[in-house]
Amino acid sequence: MSEDCIFCKIVNGELSCYKIWEDEDFLAFLDINPVSRGHVLVIPKRHYENISDCDDETLGKLNVVCKKIGLMLKDKLGATGVNIVNASGKDAQQSVFHLHYHVVARYPEDGMDLWFHGKEKFGNQLEEIAKKICGE
Ligand code: 5GP
Ligand code: ZN
Repeated sequence: MSEDCIFCKIVNGELSCYKIWEDEDFLAFLDINPVSRGHVLVIPKRHYENISDCDDETLGKLNVVCKKIGLMLKDKLGATGVNIVNASGKDAQQSVFHLHYHVVARYPEDGMDLWFHGKEKFGNQLEEIAKKICGE
Protein backbone atom coordinates (compact mmCIF):
# COMPACT_ATOMS: atom_id res chain seq x y z
CA MET A 1 0.00 0.00 0.00
CA SER A 2 1.33 3.39 -0.99
CA GLU A 3 -0.26 6.45 0.56
CA ASP A 4 -2.08 8.70 -1.90
CA CYS A 5 -2.05 6.04 -4.62
CA ILE A 6 -5.53 5.93 -6.17
CA PHE A 7 -5.19 2.32 -7.29
CA CYS A 8 -4.15 1.23 -3.77
CA LYS A 9 -7.27 3.03 -2.56
CA ILE A 10 -9.35 1.06 -5.08
CA VAL A 11 -7.73 -2.17 -3.86
CA ASN A 12 -8.54 -1.45 -0.20
CA GLY A 13 -12.07 -0.22 -0.95
CA GLU A 14 -11.50 3.47 -0.09
CA LEU A 15 -12.41 4.33 -3.70
CA SER A 16 -15.07 2.52 -5.70
CA CYS A 17 -14.64 0.93 -9.09
CA TYR A 18 -16.48 -1.27 -11.56
CA LYS A 19 -14.79 -4.55 -10.73
CA ILE A 20 -14.53 -7.06 -13.56
CA TRP A 21 -12.48 -9.82 -11.96
CA GLU A 22 -10.16 -10.42 -9.01
CA ASP A 23 -8.23 -13.05 -7.17
CA GLU A 24 -6.01 -12.82 -4.10
CA ASP A 25 -3.23 -10.93 -5.89
CA PHE A 26 -4.76 -9.14 -8.91
CA LEU A 27 -7.70 -6.88 -9.70
CA ALA A 28 -9.30 -5.92 -13.03
CA PHE A 29 -11.66 -2.95 -13.20
CA LEU A 30 -13.04 -0.52 -15.78
CA ASP A 31 -10.98 2.54 -16.65
CA ILE A 32 -12.87 5.66 -15.55
CA ASN A 33 -12.14 7.36 -18.89
CA PRO A 34 -12.58 4.54 -21.42
CA VAL A 35 -11.26 4.72 -24.97
CA SER A 36 -13.55 1.93 -26.16
CA ARG A 37 -16.55 -0.19 -25.16
CA GLY A 38 -14.55 -2.38 -22.80
CA HIS A 39 -11.43 -0.68 -21.42
CA VAL A 40 -10.11 -2.59 -18.42
CA LEU A 41 -7.18 -1.88 -16.11
CA VAL A 42 -5.40 -4.91 -14.67
CA ILE A 43 -3.27 -4.35 -11.57
CA PRO A 44 -1.39 -6.32 -8.96
CA LYS A 45 -2.98 -5.59 -5.57
CA ARG A 46 0.45 -4.95 -4.12
CA HIS A 47 1.91 -1.56 -5.02
CA TYR A 48 4.64 -1.48 -7.65
CA GLU A 49 5.40 1.74 -9.50
CA ASN A 50 5.74 0.13 -12.93
CA ILE A 51 7.41 -2.83 -14.67
CA SER A 52 10.88 -1.75 -13.50
CA ASP A 53 10.35 -2.51 -9.81
CA CYS A 54 8.03 -5.49 -10.23
CA ASP A 55 9.35 -9.03 -9.79
CA ASP A 56 9.30 -11.40 -12.76
CA GLU A 57 6.84 -13.85 -11.24
CA THR A 58 4.21 -11.14 -10.65
CA LEU A 59 4.77 -9.71 -14.13
CA GLY A 60 4.31 -13.14 -15.65
CA LYS A 61 1.06 -13.72 -13.79
CA LEU A 62 -0.13 -10.21 -14.72
CA ASN A 63 0.18 -11.12 -18.39
CA VAL A 64 -1.87 -14.26 -17.86
CA VAL A 65 -4.59 -12.19 -16.17
CA CYS A 66 -4.54 -9.77 -19.13
CA LYS A 67 -5.10 -12.71 -21.46
CA LYS A 68 -8.06 -13.84 -19.33
CA ILE A 69 -9.60 -10.35 -19.42
CA GLY A 70 -9.04 -10.10 -23.18
CA LEU A 71 -10.91 -13.36 -23.66
CA MET A 72 -13.75 -12.05 -21.46
CA LEU A 73 -14.01 -8.93 -23.64
CA LYS A 74 -14.24 -11.15 -26.71
CA ASP A 75 -16.74 -13.59 -25.17
CA LYS A 76 -18.97 -11.14 -23.33
CA LEU A 77 -18.78 -7.94 -25.37
CA GLY A 78 -18.09 -9.37 -28.80
CA ALA A 79 -14.74 -7.64 -29.17
CA THR A 80 -12.91 -8.89 -32.23
CA GLY A 81 -9.47 -7.77 -31.10
CA VAL A 82 -7.68 -6.62 -27.97
CA ASN A 83 -4.79 -4.23 -27.30
CA ILE A 84 -2.72 -4.75 -24.17
CA VAL A 85 -0.77 -1.60 -23.32
CA ASN A 86 1.50 -0.59 -20.48
CA ALA A 87 3.13 2.76 -19.81
CA SER A 88 6.18 2.58 -17.56
CA GLY A 89 7.57 5.98 -16.60
CA LYS A 90 6.45 9.57 -16.93
CA ASP A 91 8.04 9.98 -20.35
CA ALA A 92 6.17 6.90 -21.55
CA GLN A 93 2.97 8.74 -20.60
CA GLN A 94 2.33 6.83 -17.37
CA SER A 95 -0.04 8.96 -15.29
CA VAL A 96 -0.93 6.65 -12.39
CA PHE A 97 2.18 5.28 -10.73
CA HIS A 98 0.79 1.92 -9.65
CA LEU A 99 1.68 -0.76 -12.21
CA HIS A 100 -1.21 -1.44 -14.59
CA TYR A 101 -1.93 -2.84 -18.01
CA HIS A 102 -4.70 -1.45 -20.17
CA VAL A 103 -6.73 -4.19 -21.86
CA VAL A 104 -8.73 -2.47 -24.58
CA ALA A 105 -11.52 -4.08 -26.57
CA ARG A 106 -11.34 -3.47 -30.32
CA TYR A 107 -14.06 -3.78 -32.94
CA PRO A 108 -14.16 -3.76 -36.74
CA GLU A 109 -13.56 -0.27 -38.08
CA ASP A 110 -13.71 1.27 -34.61
CA GLY A 111 -11.62 4.20 -35.82
CA MET A 112 -8.94 3.84 -33.15
CA ASP A 113 -5.28 3.99 -34.04
CA LEU A 114 -3.15 2.96 -31.11
CA TRP A 115 -0.24 1.96 -33.24
CA PHE A 116 3.23 3.49 -33.47
CA HIS A 117 4.23 5.01 -36.76
CA GLY A 118 7.84 4.45 -37.78
CA LYS A 119 10.19 7.39 -38.21
CA GLU A 120 12.74 7.35 -40.98
CA LYS A 121 15.44 9.04 -38.88
CA PHE A 122 15.48 6.06 -36.50
CA GLY A 123 15.11 3.54 -39.30
CA ASN A 124 18.43 4.78 -40.64
CA GLN A 125 20.21 3.97 -37.34
CA LEU A 126 19.20 0.33 -36.83
CA GLU A 127 22.75 -1.10 -36.74
CA GLU A 128 24.04 1.54 -34.35
CA ILE A 129 21.05 1.20 -32.04
CA ALA A 130 21.26 -2.62 -31.97
CA LYS A 131 24.98 -2.45 -31.09
CA LYS A 132 24.35 0.11 -28.36
CA ILE A 133 21.58 -1.97 -26.76
CA CYS A 134 23.68 -5.13 -26.88
CA GLY A 135 26.67 -3.32 -25.40
CA GLU A 136 29.13 -4.08 -28.24
P1 5GP B 1 -1.78 5.57 -17.54
O1 5GP B 1 -1.91 6.92 -18.17
O2 5GP B 1 -0.98 5.66 -16.25
O3 5GP B 1 -1.25 4.51 -18.46
O4 5GP B 1 -3.25 5.10 -17.18
C1 5GP B 1 -3.94 5.49 -16.06
C2 5GP B 1 -5.39 5.25 -16.32
O5 5GP B 1 -6.08 5.28 -15.09
C3 5GP B 1 -6.06 6.29 -17.23
O6 5GP B 1 -6.54 5.69 -18.40
C4 5GP B 1 -7.18 6.88 -16.36
O7 5GP B 1 -8.38 7.09 -17.08
C5 5GP B 1 -7.36 5.80 -15.30
N1 5GP B 1 -7.81 6.32 -14.03
C6 5GP B 1 -7.32 7.41 -13.37
N2 5GP B 1 -7.97 7.58 -12.19
C7 5GP B 1 -8.87 6.56 -12.10
C8 5GP B 1 -9.83 6.20 -11.10
O8 5GP B 1 -9.99 6.84 -10.06
N3 5GP B 1 -10.60 5.12 -11.36
C9 5GP B 1 -10.45 4.38 -12.51
N4 5GP B 1 -11.26 3.33 -12.66
N5 5GP B 1 -9.56 4.69 -13.46
C10 5GP B 1 -8.77 5.77 -13.26
ZN1 ZN C 1 -0.65 1.76 -5.40
